Amino acid sequence: MLKAWWEALWDLIFPQRCPGCREWSEQSGWCLACIEKIVRPSQVALALHNLTWLDECVAVTDYIGPVQRLIRDMKFRRITKQAIKLGRLLDQAITTGRYNDIQIIVPVPLHVDRYQERGFNQTALIFKPWAVRRNLCWTEALVRTRATAPQWELNLKDRRKNIKGAFAVTRPELITGKHILLVDDIFTSGLTMDECAKVLKQAGAASVKGLALASGAR
Ligand SMILES: [Zn+2]
Repeated sequence: MLKAWWEALWDLIFPQRCPGCREWSEQSGWCLACIEKIVRPSQVALALHNLTWLDECVAVTDYIGPVQRLIRDMKFRRITKQAIKLGRLLDQAITTGRYNDIQIIVPVPLHVDRYQERGFNQTALIFKPWAVRRNLCWTEALVRTRATAPQWELNLKDRRKNIKGAFAVTRPELITGKHILLVDDIFTSGLTMDECAKVLKQAGAASVKGLALASGAR
């Protein structure tokens, strides 16, 4: 609490540098030139990745440069305020009305051990304020039932094995018949999001669209 207060005061007294070009910028962090360069939403080619459960998946940007640095700051250095800068990219990338059909937004969960170790789910810190701004109903309806190795450490075959059966729906009554937006910080092979889409659909979801902040797959 004190830390958050101090960080807010610090930002007020000292303006921030854009995380892209390091020039001084407005409070939201990014300068317009970097926003334009970085925000490049694109449809993931699901068939190419052999993903069969997601109805579509959009990645806002590539997992490189300043975006990669900010996400790593959050995950490995616990600099949670970077979520504000990353959330700004969502505002820029997703036009108003883009998800008018969506009824609930569900984050990919961390395993409880990882959550306790880190103290937060970076995906929730990035996406939840955006969901609130867009009037999308935030629903933490998934749980990771077992700890899994980080997907990037494994080859594709082992990734499938690693993630299979790793998720469960906690409250199916919130899922049945719903059009869902599933969100995650990084899209790599897409197997994690597809496995989540599978359990959501098996619980009766009408559709599951994916939205990842950054893609490491392109
Ligand atoms: Zn810049």
